[in-house]
Amino acid sequence: MAKTHRGKGLWKSPSKGRGTCPLCLSTRIKLLYTVSDKENHQIKVCKKCKDAPAERVEKATDTKQLAFRGKHRRQLHARHADSI
Ligand SMILES: [Zn+2]
Repeated sequence: MAKTHRGKGLWKSPSKGRGTCPLCLSTRIKLLYTVSDKENHQIKVCKKCKDAPAERVEKATDTKQLAFRGKHRRQLHARHADSI
């Protein structure tokens, strides 16, 4: 079995395969799964988000601006409350 999602092979990838997931904003999580958004950009997401529906992928946050993570997170959770 090829270990594409675990072990030493990940250490070569940027940040050792870890980062902030653009969909659920989990920090330091492994971003190993690729999904494409509506403009066909490939974005890396965590295991929890690999099967996310398209409308969640569209709302992906730019994780380069981590300083605003708190704000984005509040928005994310506000959206969640609305949908329930
Ligand atoms: Zn995620």
